[in-house]
Amino acid sequence: MPIPVMRTSPWIRVRNSKIHGKGVFAAKRIPKGTRVIEYLGERITHSEADSRYADHDPNDNHTFLFVVNRRTVIDANQKGNDARFINHSCDGNCESAIEDNRVFIDAVRTIEAGEELGYDYEIGRDKSDPENVDEIYACRCGTRKCRGSMLWPTRAEWEREQRAKARAKARARVGQKKRAR
Ligand SMILES: [Zn+2]
Repeated sequence: MPIPVMRTSPWIRVRNSKIHGKGVFAAKRIPKGTRVIEYLGERITHSEADSRYADHDPNDNHTFLFVVNRRTVIDANQKGNDARFINHSCDGNCESAIEDNRVFIDAVRTIEAGEELGYDYEIGRDKSDPENVDEIYACRCGTRKCRGSMLWPTRAEWEREQRAKARAKARARVGQKKRAR
């Protein structure tokens, strides 16, 4: 049976946030494990998302795009709900969960009434990222675990991964070749 669409949520209120623009706050105490809301919006392809925001200011870190899988991105600018106002946090009280190619925001701790909700956006890195990408997506969540950026993995880890991939590729190209059958 499909999970019902959770367009609204009795658990939350949207108001201005100290972290960034608008934020989402607990309307009442939210028990740990609560499925708070679904992240809704228009479901589009990655290339559609890229072309839709191609002329968008590269220094604007506002993102209402959620990568569901290799094929699909949810654009919460279109037909989105309040989930799009939940700010990033490096140590959030919520996390995103993907089920049946849909995205839900779950409470990973008990959240007191009035507390702001946050989850880790874990924005991925690309080779085409500008040099200052971590500044564009700077994080000011203020938690002790703050890594200073909404991107994940950290730049150092990502560069290490890229070097390891390049080495594996180089290794695969050498050695003796099997005889043609
Ligand atoms: Zn942070």
